[in-house]
Amino acid sequence: MKTLLQLIVLLVSTTLAAQQTYLHCGKLIDTKSGKVLTQKTIVVSGNKIIAVNDGYTIPTHIEYNVVDLTSKTVMPGLIDMHVHIEHETNPKKYLQAYTQNAADIAFGSVKYAEITLLNGFTTVRDLGGSGVNVSLRNAINTGKVDGPRIFTAEKALATTGGHADPTNGAKRSLMGDPGPKEGVVNGVEDAKKAVRQRYKNGADLIKITATGGVLSVAKNGQNPQFTIEEIKAICETAKDYGFHVAAHAHGDNGIQRAILGGVKTIEHGTLMSAETMDLMKKYDVYLVPTISAGKFVSDKAKIEGYYPDIIVPKALDIGPKIQDMFSRAYKAGVGIAFGTDAAVFYHGDNGKEFGYMVEAGMPAMEAIQSATITNAMLLKMQNQLGQIKAGYLADIIAVDRDPNLDVSVMQNVTFVMKDGKIYKQ
Ligand SMILES: [Zn+2]
Repeated sequence: MKTLLQLIVLLVSTTLAAQQTYLHCGKLIDTKSGKVLTQKTIVVSGNKIIAVNDGYTIPTHIEYNVVDLTSKTVMPGLIDMHVHIEHETNPKKYLQAYTQNAADIAFGSVKYAEITLLNGFTTVRDLGGSGVNVSLRNAINTGKVDGPRIFTAEKALATTGGHADPTNGAKRSLMGDPGPKEGVVNGVEDAKKAVRQRYKNGADLIKITATGGVLSVAKNGQNPQFTIEEIKAICETAKDYGFHVAAHAHGDNGIQRAILGGVKTIEHGTLMSAETMDLMKKYDVYLVPTISAGKFVSDKAKIEGYYPDIIVPKALDIGPKIQDMFSRAYKAGVGIAFGTDAAVFYHGDNGKEFGYMVEAGMPAMEAIQSATITNAMLLKMQNQLGQIKAGYLADIIAVDRDPNLDVSVMQNVTFVMKDGKIYKQ
């Protein structure tokens, strides 16, 4: 039996031995001020940042570990507001809906999560899958699997035949009649039930497909697919559970209904009019641009057989229009929340979006702020994520050059720390 004194000594010595990590940063992006600071030291203890010091400091009285990032540009871990962590584009995807079991999806998703993290995205908002996304989030949170922290919508909500109806394109005997449990709603009561079902299933937020979409096996890529009453019922019910609502939408009419119905973000926003951009500002709704996805689908649609025939004209029409709309929305002052739609293109390529945003007229610093401080605020994590500051979670990444001088460097993240643990160095 240990004496009380021995226990106290043991406790004190363990606490003192808890190693702190000193990150010596040549350049450090302050996402709050939009400035690049030089020669700073970030002190990390456990999963938290405990100090940011001027110059390159080391402690005198405790065990420590120094990470030399003096030649690098350091910033907070990036946040992507639109990924689908369960899947990834491939020409067999449409068949796989009928051949894969949940376990097959799960093994794939583990790989996508790891690639995402190693490319500097330490947090993602997952906008829809089969429910494996909830288990993956839990596995990451409990340290069983390496990946970004995930906020997930679980299964996206659609109306019958709508963009996220899981049986679109199936033969009649396989089509069935999915309902709120499967994320398909028709009418206000269904809408409420579908939100409550997502709560029960462990979702963190709600995603709706307010208009047609490109990659569903259906003819129209932009028509409105919910009534405004249905959207209002979803958004009001979501509030009861602390959920915000994200709306996939390409067509202008559907975007307007989503804004008036109470959603927080518009995903894609392709055919948004100037009038609707004003509405976005008035209702404080953010645009998640997903330019990368638009470019990828319009390229792949030119390869015969990559997508089912019904998808090709939609991809060629809608894909190329996103970047131009983004440019107009940014200049009009619409709030921009960085998001890519990774899964529509290859996981890990999320960083390309920065280059597309800069090409469309947004300065690199603002694109980085969008992917950090803005997204942290939308996820209600503004006191824990999106900045490098004492008290915040130690999600820290670095690139080899200053992205304000060459934004392509955002595609090559060379240091990744999440929750105080180094995953790439
Ligand atoms: Zn998506």
